[in-house]
Amino acid sequence: MRLSRGLVPTLKETPAEAQITSHRLMLRAGLVRQTSAGIYAWLPLGYRVLRNIERIVREEQDAAGAQELLMPTIQPAELWRESGRYEDYGKEMLRIRDRHEREMLYGPTNEEMITDLMRQSVKSYRELPQILYHIQWKFRDEVRPRFGVMRGREFLMKDAYSFDLDYAGAVVSYRKMMLAYMRTFQRLGLKAIPMVADTGPIGGDLSHEFIILAPTGESQVYYNAAFEEIDYSSDAFSHASAEDLQRFFGLMTSQYAATDEKHDIDAWGKVAPDRRREGRGIEVGHIFYFGTKYSEPMGFRVAGPDGKPAAAEMGSYGIGVSRLVGAVIEASHDADGIVWPDSVAPFKAALLNLKRGDAACDAICEDVCARLGADHVLYDDRDERAGVKFADADLMGHPWQIVVGPRGAANGRVELKRRAGGQREELSVEDALARVG
Ligand code: ATP
Ligand code: MG
Repeated sequence: MRLSRGLVPTLKETPAEAQITSHRLMLRAGLVRQTSAGIYAWLPLGYRVLRNIERIVREEQDAAGAQELLMPTIQPAELWRESGRYEDYGKEMLRIRDRHEREMLYGPTNEEMITDLMRQSVKSYRELPQILYHIQWKFRDEVRPRFGVMRGREFLMKDAYSFDLDYAGAVVSYRKMMLAYMRTFQRLGLKAIPMVADTGPIGGDLSHEFIILAPTGESQVYYNAAFEEIDYSSDAFSHASAEDLQRFFGLMTSQYAATDEKHDIDAWGKVAPDRRREGRGIEVGHIFYFGTKYSEPMGFRVAGPDGKPAAAEMGSYGIGVSRLVGAVIEASHDADGIVWPDSVAPFKAALLNLKRGDAACDAICEDVCARLGADHVLYDDRDERAGVKFADADLMGHPWQIVVGPRGAANGRVELKRRAGGQREELSVEDALARVG
């Protein structure tokens, strides 16, 4: 992509409306623009990041055996009346009437709709278990949308739903999702810690929030450093083995981790002082077992092995895909801008032509573009001073910067900078490209 012909409106000044780092950097780096309170347009760079996160989320859901589908954003009110949530949901729900005065709503979540889809077609225990997910926009009319995409009104969520014949099966589904989540967050370069959350009237211990540390988090959290040292991608844990999943769940629940509301001073006191991690936390995901809360009132029953119908055991599993863009920035930035992890960066490399019109500089840049491919390099071919290009490249945070100046170019050499850490090296074009990969 060529910056001179791209919609990447970087800002030098810090926008006054942004209170937290990620929001400031997302506006300054030209990733998003607000179109109404809590509603954002994703500009080309931001959209690339969003899609990268979505891809990683999707790959890990698929690896856990979940099936992707796509449910609509607009839902009929009747479904929500069946579960009893139409009234309960209150003002956070955006209610709409169509031209026939039918009551509709913009979905804040999809338990009712997925239960309806399942009950239409699934009749026997032989068709279970199933986990289904979609990655779809949600609308919640939050009282106080703030912090940019972290608490928006319209936001992108991955929401999965599990259906099992019995509690034992539901537990296995829950653990699969927990493993998928830890793998997802690790690939995003985040240290997200599962913390027991309130299960409400259902009880039990099967609800976890996944929380990352960031100074602007909404709650105080405490956990044992052990969580940061586990390699969740390890094949010591397989989705296919109930024993592995149990061992994994044991590992996740045996070390101290708690939010403010659940904090236990005595248990915390037993964690070695140098192993204690505490700070403000941001919730990036939430998983929940809720039994027959929806299947029972909505009449989703399957015939069991004994022929008797039983309401399916369900769970739901959310990840804030758009919130994660902000969360990754909160976790990875410095004074100059964003420092994208390789896995989510909009482009692998920024290419800085310090002297447009210089035959050697132009030729090297065209060559680098052709060889890396338009999908992997953002070519700063603007008519700007070198200082502006350096500052913008740091701000936008691509993992690599390939700097092409007239002196080096004359000898076929470029400067390669790693954004994280800032190391620079003068290399041949070949070596620089090999490094960028
Ligand atoms: P919160 O306590 O932050 O309001 P929630 O408990 O309402 O979250 P869930 O219904 O569990 O959230 O939604 C799943 C995920 O969707 C959350 O973990 C979060 O990452 C994301 N999410 C929820 N509300 C918003 C929002 N207003 N803007 C952006 N992402 C959100
Ligand atoms: Mg909420």
